[in-house]
Formats: sequence, structure tokens, C-alpha cells
Amino acid sequence: MTTAIFPGSFDPFTLGHLDVLESALKIFNKVIIAVGYNSKKGKNGFFSVEDRVKIVKDAIKPYGKRVDVCSYKELTIELCKKLNVKFIVRGLRTTTDFELEGVIAQANRVLDPSVVTVYVQASHEYSFISSTVVRDVIIHNGDATPFMPKGVNIKKYLKK
Ligand code: ADP
Repeated sequence: MTTAIFPGSFDPFTLGHLDVLESALKIFNKVIIAVGYNSKKGKNGFFSVEDRVKIVKDAIKPYGKRVDVCSYKELTIELCKKLNVKFIVRGLRTTTDFELEGVIAQANRVLDPSVVTVYVQASHEYSFISSTVVRDVIIHNGDATPFMPKGVNIKKYLKK
């Protein structure tokens, strides 16, 4: 049984992330979505880590036991050790993603050469979707539903 982790900020989880997850499920038996803190994006984020995990839970219901979610504060590579997982999945949209992801993967490889990073190419129809776009739509009182996986009622998580 091969398991991978799909780490990210997921602030919030979008249709783009779901697309990466679906590709990853063609390669791995099980995928664990790991919601982390991104030092560049600030400690707290737009949604709390607890809400980000709940949003992922809403999105992954159709996948049953093949997909799990957790949150983490340690280095991704430390989480891999803790969960005994040897594969990290990340998504690529643009050449910028490729360059940024390359740096992260190289660093992880130095930290633990036994862990392999696997990249999944974004589908054409979802490649423009990012958590940033979703947050911008929300901040400007737009409806972000078209960017969210089925089963996620994003309005539930917005503070009144
Ligand atoms: P991080 O802050 O760690 O980059 P994100 O939640 O922004 O976390 O993204 C997690 C992963 O999902 C990254 O590898 C990112 O490139 C990928 N990703 C995000 N949106 C898309 C998309 N629309 N298509 C493909 N991959 C995506």
C-alpha cells in the first residue's frame, strides 16, 4: 500500500487542489492532505487551521478511506517521518510553481533523501484557481462557490 502526503496551506482548499488530489489517487492508494502553516503567508492565515481542516473534510467525503486530512506545525519532512510516508505530492500550474517547488523539493531531499517529491500537472480548466483568487473573491463580497469542491459550503466558514 503506497501512501503519499499532499502538504500545503489550503487557505482554503479549492477545485485546483481537488484536481491534484484526483491525479495523486491514480498513483497512490492513499493520500493524506496535510494542512500546514506557511511562514511566508503569515502564521494565522485567512481561515483558521481548524476551519481549513474542516473544509478539506467536507471536500474529501466522496473518497472514503483513501483520503485523510491532518494539520501539522513541524517541517513537512518531519511529518513524513512521523507518518512513515515516503512520497510528497505537489501541484504545478506555471513555470514559477516549478521553480519554487524545485527549491522546496531539493531542500527536503537534503533533509531526507529517502522521501521523493512527485509533481502533478494542473488541468487546463483548473490551473487558474488558487486560494489567493478565492480569498480575493470573498474579501470583495463575491461568491467563491464556483471555485470550491462540491460539498463545501464556504459561506459557513465566513465570519459575520
Ligand atoms: P503552499 O502555501 O504550500 O504553496 P497551497 O495551498 O497554496 O500551499 O498549494 C498547495 C499545492 O497545491 C502547491 O503545490 C500548489 O502548487 C498546488 N496548487 C494550488 N492550486 C493549484 C491548481 N489550481 N492546480 C494545480 N496545483 C495547484
